[in-house]
Amino acid sequence: MPKYKSLNEFLTTNKSLQCNVRGCDRKRTGKSNYCGRHRARAYTWGHPEAGAVKSHVYSDEIEAVTRLLAKNADHEAIQYGRDWLAKMMAAAAKGGNIRGSMYWANLHNQEVDPGELLSRLAGLWLFDQKDEIRRIIKNDNHLTALSGNTVIRFAKMNGIKYVPPKIYRQVGDQVRQGIGPLLINICRSSEKIELRKRNSRSKMLQALDLDGL
Ligand SMILES: [Zn+2]
Repeated sequence: MPKYKSLNEFLTTNKSLQCNVRGCDRKRTGKSNYCGRHRARAYTWGHPEAGAVKSHVYSDEIEAVTRLLAKNADHEAIQYGRDWLAKMMAAAAKGGNIRGSMYWANLHNQEVDPGELLSRLAGLWLFDQKDEIRRIIKNDNHLTALSGNTVIRFAKMNGIKYVPPKIYRQVGDQVRQGIGPLLINICRSSEKIELRKRNSRSKMLQALDLDGL
């Protein structure tokens, strides 16, 4: 037995219920478990409480991976990542049939340095790794949308007035599929460095032998 006799009955009931997001007292919209605002956030960012994350929030992480990438500039993996980003930009500029080509081409036209874009993306992914309790980056879909957002808005939005929300996800998916393993590799290496630093600090703080002094 269905719970509701008709879609209309369901919609009417649904509209009288509170949004599923804790602390939100707005009513649900349409068929959604969320109010209009939280439904839109879920659609754009992959989670009802997710949103854009400005790069200054993860500037420490960008700095850390930039150092790491500079040290490994000739490493095959890093070259691959830079080449992949450069190829996406160049292909889009030549009119290649790729999703979000307008945005990739916009980066190409402004001669974006693929190494800088790689650092930005790796910084974002490192920040995601560190944000274990998901305070800011809510889940993997949010990270995907943010990756797309990072690419799309990396240069000035020359002549681009509007970005359809689903494009963030689509470009983010390209990043994940194209260089996801590399970004994870960079995060792991960066965390190892962090651990090494912490270990040497704790060595310095070990109690000294005071017996007989
Ligand atoms: Zn809500």
